[in-house]
Parts: sequence; C-alpha cells; structure tokens
Amino acid sequence: MSVELSIIVPLYNEEDNVRPMYEAVRDAVLPLGRAVELIFVDDGSRDATFARALELPRHAGRLHLRLVKLRRNAGQTAAMVARIDHARGAVLVTMDGDLQNDPRDIPLFLDKIAEGHDLVVGWRHERKDHWSRVLPSMAANRLIAWVTGVPIRDNGCSLKAYRLDVLQHVNLYGELHRFIPALASQVGGTVTEVISPLVDIRSRL
Ligand code: UDP
Ligand code: MG
Repeated sequence: MSVELSIIVPLYNEEDNVRPMYEAVRDAVLPLGRAVELIFVDDGSRDATFARALELPRHAGRLHLRLVKLRRNAGQTAAMVARIDHARGAVLVTMDGDLQNDPRDIPLFLDKIAEGHDLVVGWRHERKDHWSRVLPSMAANRLIAWVTGVPIRDNGCSLKAYRLDVLQHVNLYGELHRFIPALASQVGGTVTEVISPLVDIRSRL
C-alpha cells in the first residue's frame, strides 16, 4: 500500500493523551479516504506512554499506526526530524501529541498543499497556554519574523504540513532543524546537541 500522508507525533510522557490523540487523528483522517500512516514517536518517555501506544489497533480502515521508540529523550525537534527521515508519504503533517493541536485541522492544511503550497505552518490563534508562555513566544516570533523576513506568526506551532520533496531539498543544503537552534540562541536560549540512537521496533511487532 502506498502511503499518501504521514502524520508524525512526538510523545514525551503523554500516557493519558496517547489514546485520545490516536482517536482524534483517526476520526479526522478516515473520512478523507486516503492511505495514511500515523507515526507515534515515543521520545524516551518515563511513564507508560509506549505501553499505551502498544495497546492501540495497528490498522483502522486506511489508517496505519507505526510506533517508534527513542531510547533516550532527544527533545521534540530531534525526535520529529529523526522520524521525518523515515516517513513514506508524499505529504507530511507534524503535530504535538499533547492534544494542543487539533487533528480536525488537518484537512485544511492538506487543502493548502493541494493548492500548490509546499509548507503550511499553523498559527495557534486561540492559544490555551498561560500568558507567561504566550508573551515571550510572541516576542520571539516577532524577532524571528524580523530576522528571517518570513512573516510566520507562530514558529512554535508544531502543526505543519510539508511536501516531502521540499523537505528533502531542505535537508540537502543544511538540515532544517539546525535553523531552529540558531533561532533559539538568537532569543537567548543555550543550545546543545544530543545524538540519540534510534530503536525502530516495527520489526519486532
Ligand atoms: N515532546 C517530545 N520530547 C520532549 C518534549 C516534548 O517529544 O523532550 C513532545 C510532547 O510530548 C508534545 C510535543 O513534543 O507532544 C510538544 O511538547 P510541549 O507540549 O512540551 O511543547 P509546547 O506545547 O510547549 O510547545
Ligand atoms: Mg504543548
């Protein structure tokens, strides 16, 4: 079965969110009638996230669930980037697994891709976080927009859709994720790199 869409969700200590997340994605994508792979990346969780994920059905209609476990916590970006390399769909969607992104938005993003856009970035318009998080990120977004000249309002929003060939192109000349630490350091963060060996458990399931 050729995969039309890959949805990548990093999970770190999300044991209570795994099943609702799965069900939300399933309900959002099944009506699309496309061959979709949902990739749950357990980023070295210390709780029962992975055990919960193992309890989920591997297939539902044209939705196929793939589970990946990173041996150590590699951080959201590393976990996401690592799995993007393994996605098989022509279109990728990345989103958070803590239910802060709504899978029902996915069709909107796919529509934009179908219109010819290569990258669709979410904007958390009605963000549910505390102001102490919202205000710094607002400032950071302004700065990033100013430095890069890309008027993205919400760089921190994980809900994004990409055309795979564009991502491969990005990887060719310098790995997109390196851009993110650079931006983080510009807004005062200290950046370090963690290399985590991947343990892909598909072959054992
Ligand atoms: N996450 C991860 N590794 C980490 C931290 C977070 O895979 O070290 C996952 C987390 O489970 C969630 C997503 O990345 O699905 C976003 O994390 P978080 O909610 O902490 O980020 P924020 O919403 O503050 O941007
Ligand atoms: Mg979150």
